[in-house]
Parts: sequence; C-alpha cells; structure tokens
Amino acid sequence: MKRTLFLIFGVVLILLAAAPVAAQDAIVITSSQFTCDFRKELNFQVDAQSIATITRVELVIDFVETGSFRGSAKFDEGTRVRATYNWNLEQKYLPPGVTGQFWWEITDQAGNRKISAKQPFRVEDNRFKWQTLSEPRFALYWYGGDAAFGKAIFERAVSAMDALQRDTGVTVERQLQIFLYDKRADFLSALEPVVNDWVGGRAYTDHGITLIHVGANNLSFGLVATPHELTHLIIHRKLGKIGTAGFPRWLDEGLAMYYEFVPPKLETEYQTILRRAIQDDTLIPLRVLSGNFATDARQATLSYAQSFSVVDFIYRRYGKDKMTQMLLEFKQGNAFDDVFQRVLGVDTDGLESAWRQDIGAKPRAIPTRAPLAPTAFPTFALSTDLTAPTPRRDATTAPTPVARAATPAPAPTSAPRVPLNPLTQLCGGSAMLLGGVAGWAFYRRWRRAG
Ligand SMILES: [Zn+2]
Repeated sequence: MKRTLFLIFGVVLILLAAAPVAAQDAIVITSSQFTCDFRKELNFQVDAQSIATITRVELVIDFVETGSFRGSAKFDEGTRVRATYNWNLEQKYLPPGVTGQFWWEITDQAGNRKISAKQPFRVEDNRFKWQTLSEPRFALYWYGGDAAFGKAIFERAVSAMDALQRDTGVTVERQLQIFLYDKRADFLSALEPVVNDWVGGRAYTDHGITLIHVGANNLSFGLVATPHELTHLIIHRKLGKIGTAGFPRWLDEGLAMYYEFVPPKLETEYQTILRRAIQDDTLIPLRVLSGNFATDARQATLSYAQSFSVVDFIYRRYGKDKMTQMLLEFKQGNAFDDVFQRVLGVDTDGLESAWRQDIGAKPRAIPTRAPLAPTAFPTFALSTDLTAPTPRRDATTAPTPVARAATPAPAPTSAPRVPLNPLTQLCGGSAMLLGGVAGWAFYRRWRRAG
C-alpha cells in the first residue's frame, strides 16, 4: 500500500514538473519594483518578456493582516512589456505601517504562465524622518520629539501591555504599531480624506495600527494616550469585529483608562468629579454607559471616571480571572448582560448595585429594563472599516450573532451623526468607525487645554 502511494506520488511529481515549469521558463521577469508615495499612491511595476505576446499581467497582494487582493496591471501587449499597477490611496486608503507581500502572474498568448517570487513591501509615510523603538508585540514611531521623548512613551506603553497581559492573559500575536504625529496638519494629512478634522487619533484595528497627534511639547499627553490607545488595539483585535460590537463602552474605556498608568491610577480631576457625583448622587447609570458617552464635558469626564472605577471594582471584587473569562465570552459574540450573568453572577444592574455599594454611593432605584433604556448595542457596532480591502481572515468563524441582546431596546441608529461639537466624538462615539478610539485623544487634549 505504502509503495503504491509512493508510486502515485512520484507520477504526480513528474507530471507537475513536466508541464508548468517549462511554461514558466518561457516568460522572464527582468525587474519588479514597489514604490510608495504616501498618501497618494502605491506603485507596483514589473518588466517582463516572453517568446509569445504577453496578454495578461496580474498583481497579487497578500496583506499580513487583512487578506489578499488581486488586480490587473496596465500595459501594452507585446513580447516585452512594462506593466504597472497603481494603488490609489485616496480611494483605497491604507495607513502607514501596513505590510504584505506581492507577486505577479503573467500569461502569454501561447498559454505560458509565470508566477514571480514574492516580494515584501511596506506602506511608509515617507514625508517624515521617523524614529522607532520596537519589540515583538509593539512598535512606536515618532518624528517630533527627541530620542528620550520616544523612549519614555515606548516604555510606558510596554509596561501597560505587560500589565494587561499579566492581568487578563490577553497576548499580542502580531506586532501592533502606533505612529505619533507631531503637527496636527501632518496628522490630518496622513488619514483618509473623509475623516473629520476634529479627530485626535485614529485606530485601524484590522491592521493593528493607530495614528495619534502628539506634539513634541506634549509628552504628558503622549504618556497616557499611547498606552490608552494600545490597550484599545489589543482588546479590539482580541475580540474581533463581533466581540467588539457587543462590548460595552464603559468596559472598553475603563480598561483603556486602567492601563494608562502602571500601577493603575485615576488622575485627580477624574477622582474629584467622581467623588462629587457620589456625594450628589448623580452617577450615570451603568447601562447608559454601555452605549455612547455623553457629549457634555462634565458628563464625559464622569463617564470615563466611572468606567475606570467599575473596571477597578471588577478586578478587586471578582478577580482578574473573571476579566479573562469575560473577554473570551465577548469574543464569542455574546450579549453583555449574558456575559456578566454567566461570569460574575449578576447582570449590568446587579453589577452596578454592587459597585455603588463598594464606592459608598447610595443605592439606585433600578427600573427593570426600562423601555427607554439606551440601546443595548452601541451604534458603533460593525460600522464600516474602510481600510480592509478584503474581509478579515479570522472573521470566518461566525459565532452566535449578537441578536440575543438585552431587551426591546430600540434598534440602534446606524448612521453616524454629524457632531455638533467635538465632544460628540469621544473615544468611540459614533466614529467608532475603524474602532476610532480617535475622539478620546481629542477630548483629552481639549479637556486639558480647557
Ligand atoms: Zn478610549
């Protein structure tokens, strides 16, 4: 039996060797190049010749994060051709840092076919002279500040990542990248053209890349913004699209706030506003914070403060293992009340009651799932990811849909609204477009300036 298999295998090998290899030799590639003119275009170019007229030249790109792409190159038919493929970044945006491999598939009139060797490429914002620090899980790029500026931010981000990994077991398999833009104009001109000009940061979760505007003179902002955004990137990538869609905003922001400092700390201004809300009994119901945060500055600050506080409470009361379990449950696409019930033994309201008691707040009369309750699933859910040329590879294992939502809450309004003021776009907000953690950075800067 073994011998027969071996024989068959041998015959197949001979057949494989005979036909295509000869055909491959008929076409010769003399040069293959990639150039990047950020943010205009990527240019792929190949020179080839054959014994017969070349009739077809196709470019194939395999993106490390988002799958593959195939397109026909432009050229004049002939036995010697120069074929080009222009990837228009204005139309099909890719952030700096995207990497992949490309190759060519060339066919001639005689039916010969040539597949070129794979070549690596990287989208670079080559308008600036970047400095970089990296380790296997994370790379930081900046050009504004000096080496010490980048080093301080990098180290803070790495320690945040270590802490998150230690606490939740969430690991980073492929390197995440954060680019710090020194000037606002530089930052805005690096984003896709459709972005509103009030954003302060932009996350491309599918690619594991975030761009943030951090001025060289604003180290203190960079020190909190970078680990904050990195935490979002790690969590969102871990949860995938489905998991992120059902993830309550307070938990998302609470985790990002929690890892801004190692050990965790709530900055004084947040503490003050939280303490006052406890005294005045004006805490925002946790269920409300599951969706978009308020646009009002005070309420927004309180929303972030409470988010931090509840995450801190979960860690203290239930233990870090429970956070790990919850993340796994969210990843499966489970609704948040189901997740809390299953892992913590309480739903959102039960969790809120326990938390309020813990921080010394008065009990809140909680109506049973009022019809006026905020949408169970934030509007940023599954919003478009303009950056992905093809669906995520790992999005195939479609788990239970998020349909088992809480209650007869009204259907989420999907269309992002145009903000009346910048604060509408808090970390996430309706601009959760691309996981647009975005607004948070702006909010933070705005609040500090104010
Ligand atoms: Zn955030």
